[in-house]
Amino acid sequence: MNPIQIPRGTQDLLPQVTPIWQFIEKQAQEICRLYNYQEIRTPIFESTDLFLRGVGDTTDIVQKEMYSFEDRGGRSLTLRPEGTASVVRSYVQEKMYGQPNQPTKLYYIGPMFRYERPQAGRYRQFFQFGVEAIGALNPAVDAEVISLAMSFYKNIGLTELKLVINSLGDKESRLRHREALINHFEPSIGEFCSDCQSRLHKNPLRILDCKQDHDHPLMKTAPSILEFLNEESKNYFEQVKSLLDQIGIQYVVDPTLVRGLDYYNHTTFEIMGASFGSISTLCGGGRYNGLVQELGGPESPGIGFALSIERAILALEAEGKALPGVQALDAFVVSMGEPTEEKALSILYRLRQAGFSVDKDYMDRKMKAQMKQADRFQSRFVLLLGEEELEKQVINVKNMETGEQEAVNWDDLITYLERQLRRNQ
Ligand code: ATP
Ligand code: MG
Repeated sequence: MNPIQIPRGTQDLLPQVTPIWQFIEKQAQEICRLYNYQEIRTPIFESTDLFLRGVGDTTDIVQKEMYSFEDRGGRSLTLRPEGTASVVRSYVQEKMYGQPNQPTKLYYIGPMFRYERPQAGRYRQFFQFGVEAIGALNPAVDAEVISLAMSFYKNIGLTELKLVINSLGDKESRLRHREALINHFEPSIGEFCSDCQSRLHKNPLRILDCKQDHDHPLMKTAPSILEFLNEESKNYFEQVKSLLDQIGIQYVVDPTLVRGLDYYNHTTFEIMGASFGSISTLCGGGRYNGLVQELGGPESPGIGFALSIERAILALEAEGKALPGVQALDAFVVSMGEPTEEKALSILYRLRQAGFSVDKDYMDRKMKAQMKQADRFQSRFVLLLGEEELEKQVINVKNMETGEQEAVNWDDLITYLERQLRRNQ
């Protein structure tokens, strides 16, 4: 029978790589602790309507990438393609806006699903770490969110980072810019892809984000949003930039940076890293002041970002950074002969209870093969138990780094190992 293959665009994270994932997830949790963002876990699937409204029907995600299905009760559900819509749904549903601890600062880590053409850095199931700060329209919050993302990347070990920011302004600025974009593209819209043609009146800003028509000459000459910002929006953007300067975060302003999602306004940003394949964007984020209302809540401004763990790891690899591997075992119990078996097991469990990582052979291996197994786990100590040791109530402790060996009384074993391992650290 043919073995069944993993679905296209997904990957098994095997024990060789899960330590990297655990490291990165820990760094994400830790940076969120420092910035006082709390974790939220929402369902993997949601009503399809949530994404139609929350992501926007002119986006690639909604038009081409969603995994939608009907359940047995006839409801249309979708595997979440991103996290913001779910977080905001929960914010509204749980009436978080009514709580005194505003702004509401949340983070999430989990799988997202998009039907995409798989390549390095682009998968159909990928893991995002994202944060959302909802309830405050304050440039300091924009700077905080950007700083959190940058610090996260620095903490995992990335150095080649480039932050690009832009402002899409408020509603009024966006409307004026929208008119200018329509006037700019309309006469030649026939030269653009069919997606762009349908975007022209629905959401012309999205034309600037088109991957197909990226090099069309009209893209370069398109009216810049920055020229359409009203005083208030300009002022807001100036404050965000000046705060970033104060914190010591470098950035480049790129007026063509628009995000794929529809409800963005004011600050948008992207973080690029060392490239892998054709991709270098690691993180995208921005402000979405209209989203909470769009999902049935009160007017509450929000800002957030999302980044994928896969791309963070690819960037670390592209920079040639050493990545954490499987953790070494503290000790491996090597027992010789049937009569020692029971004692070997009791030592194994006693050590585990005391907090050591310990294993033993379960395959009836000969002594030499057991030593090999200890090596495979990079065990720092091997504990040898033969019939002679059994009689004397000792165990031979071999330090695998120095080769030194010492007989230790069973009762002293825990203290002995504690001392040795501390010395080795
Ligand atoms: P792209 O332009 O690369 O398609 P996007 O605009 O669709 O990105 P967002 O929806 O903003 O991306 O998602 C935020 C981050 O999630 C991206 O910066 C990227 O790190 C990551 N990401 C998006 N899609 C994928 C994917 N298919 N596989 C892995 N990571 C992804
Ligand atoms: Mg995409």
